Amino acid sequence: MLPFKLVYSDDYYLPIGAHVFPAEKYRRIHERLLETGVAEEPDFVTPQPASDQDILLVHTSQYVHKLKTGTLSAREELEMEIPYSPELVRAFWMAAGGSILAAKHALNDRIAFNVGGGFHHAFPDHGEGFCMIHDVAVAIRRMQRDDKISRAMTVDCDVHQGNGTAAIFAGMRIPGAPLPSTGPAILNPAKPAKLRNEHAGDVFTISLHQANNYPAWKPPSSIDVDLPDEIGDDDYLGWLDNALSSGLRQFDPELICYIAGADPYREDQLGGLSLTIEGLKRRDELVFRAARARDIPVMVTFAGGYARNVNDTVAIHCNTVIAAREVMSP
Ligand SMILES: [Zn+2]
Repeated sequence: MLPFKLVYSDDYYLPIGAHVFPAEKYRRIHERLLETGVAEEPDFVTPQPASDQDILLVHTSQYVHKLKTGTLSAREELEMEIPYSPELVRAFWMAAGGSILAAKHALNDRIAFNVGGGFHHAFPDHGEGFCMIHDVAVAIRRMQRDDKISRAMTVDCDVHQGNGTAAIFAGMRIPGAPLPSTGPAILNPAKPAKLRNEHAGDVFTISLHQANNYPAWKPPSSIDVDLPDEIGDDDYLGWLDNALSSGLRQFDPELICYIAGADPYREDQLGGLSLTIEGLKRRDELVFRAARARDIPVMVTFAGGYARNVNDTVAIHCNTVIAAREVMSP
């Protein structure tokens, strides 16, 4: 048995037909975790779909109405980049319910996974980049509404910037917030990354992403690390360590929401970074160690992953569970 819960539903499957997004990955992650003995059936818990009331904690009533009545404009559907259907709406409500349940378990058990979710490109009033509903934001707002937490931090390691997250949680700038004084020695001066440090309200947002990639417009997160193309394991880990230390010096969250995208992988079709599968597991360990050292609960969601071979995407996501078992076991 794992010392934490994995929230999963077969209904996470996104009915989007042939698509670069491997909608079957959730079912395959579930299977592989069982087949390899990483998890057993009792480690999994089944979510209920989020209620409309939960979704409305983040999204506008006009947008929710359009989704529930199938009245998105052609432009809005195009921007979402996945074909609308009532079944797709149900899958996103389920993903949001999964993140709510994972957040609850994380607060009890120090860590929990939603074997899905991480739809960080959804905005309050529209969907973008394969994301209809921002499940992580819904979970944070629900935990705040229930007085379980007041402050949360998002740590987004998907290769694409968390534009929806940044827009939803845009808050006040902390005056004189310290910037990391120097980069770690490990960083390669030939490939400088750019670190931007903007604002924080009750949710502090960190995003490490490829600068030269979707989304073209990147609304400011609390900390954005704009990485150059083709950055490898050691440089990436140096920047992640730097951003986490800086963020956790400035802000004291009661919950970390880790968005563990598989797409910084060097074989990813929609990414331009050069991390290895092993490097991505070290990334996961680094996040979990930082949380454990400060005794901050972590809720994990999986986000993107478009490897040429879908087995690699599944392996990267399963490794995040293994990294948590290694780091978070008592
Ligand atoms: Zn992505």
